Amino acid sequence: MEKKVNSFNSTGILYIIPTPIGNLSDITYRAVETLKNVNLIAAENIYHTNILLQHYNVKNILISLNKDNEKTQSHYVINKLKEGKKIALVSDAGTPVINDPGYFLVKKCCYLNIKIVPLPGPCAAITALSASGISTNRFCYEGFLPSKKKIRCDLLNSLKKETRTMIFYESKHRILESIRDIIEKIDENRHLVVAKEITKKWEYIYGAKANVMLSWLKKDKNRYNKGEIVIIIDGFKELKNQDVSEKVINTFKILRNFLSSKQSVLIASKIHKIKKNNLYKYAITKEDK
Ligand code: SAM
Repeated sequence: MEKKVNSFNSTGILYIIPTPIGNLSDITYRAVETLKNVNLIAAENIYHTNILLQHYNVKNILISLNKDNEKTQSHYVINKLKEGKKIALVSDAGTPVINDPGYFLVKKCCYLNIKIVPLPGPCAAITALSASGISTNRFCYEGFLPSKKKIRCDLLNSLKKETRTMIFYESKHRILESIRDIIEKIDENRHLVVAKEITKKWEYIYGAKANVMLSWLKKDKNRYNKGEIVIIIDGFKELKNQDVSEKVINTFKILRNFLSSKQSVLIASKIHKIKKNNLYKYAITKEDK
C-alpha cells in the first residue's frame, strides 16, 4: 500500500496510545497530554479506560471500539478524522493493535491517507523480552498460542527449528498444557522464560529448560493459576559438536548403512569413547533434515 510521506488527505490525526500493563505509573507524559487534548478517545473498554483517565485527571469523551464493534466504530472514527478531528486509540493494556483491537482502523487510515501518530510505550511482549536473558537480536512475535491442542502442537512443531527467539502470549488456563506441548514438540531441554504479571505485585520472570519449568510451575499453584503470562522460547541452535569429530561421524555413517540410528550412535560412541548423547544429538539434527 503506497503512502505519501507528510501529505495527508485531512487534518485529522489518529494517535495510537499505549497504556500501562499493570502499574498505572507506566504511562508517558506525552500519552497523558495527548489523551487530554484529543477530541475523542476510542477505547477497547470504556469502564477500564475511565479508571486510568481518573487517575490522571483526564476528562474527555470516550467511545467504545472493541473486537465486536470494530468495523462499525472504525467507520465512525474515520468520518470524524475526515472532519479534521484528533482521535486517540487505546486498549485495555499495552499497545493497541498488538493482539488488541485497532488493526482495521489503522489499515483504513493508511488506505485513506489519514495521518497516524503512534506513541511509544508499554507492550508485554517487549517488556518480557528485555528481561528474559534470551537473545534479543532476532525475534518473532507469535501472539497467543492457539487454544486448540492440535493447532497448537502443529504450530510448535513448525517452529522446532526456528532460530529466532519466539515470543508468545499465554493464558493461565493453558500454561501447563502448553509447556507440556513445548516439551513434546520442540525439546524438553529448550531454554524458555515465563514472565508473569509484569509490573504487578506478583511479578516473576523465571527461566529454565522446558522440563524443569514444568516441574517448577507445578510445585506451586500460585505460579500458574492466576494472572497474565508471556512465554519466551530460545531459538533453535545448531549443535557445536566439539566431541563429534569427523572420524566419529564417518564411523556413524558407515554403521548407519546397516543399523538403526540408535544402534549406530551406541556403537560409534563406544568405539571412539565419546558421550553417546553428543553423537545422538548430532544424528537427530542431521537425520531430521
Ligand atoms: N496489547 C497488549 C500488549 O501490548 O502487550 C497485549 C494485549 S493481549 C489481549 C493480553 C495478553 O498480553 C495477556 O493475556 C498476556 O499474555 C499478555 N500480558 C498483558 N499484560 C501482561 C503482564 N502484565 N504480564 C504478563 N503478560 C501480560
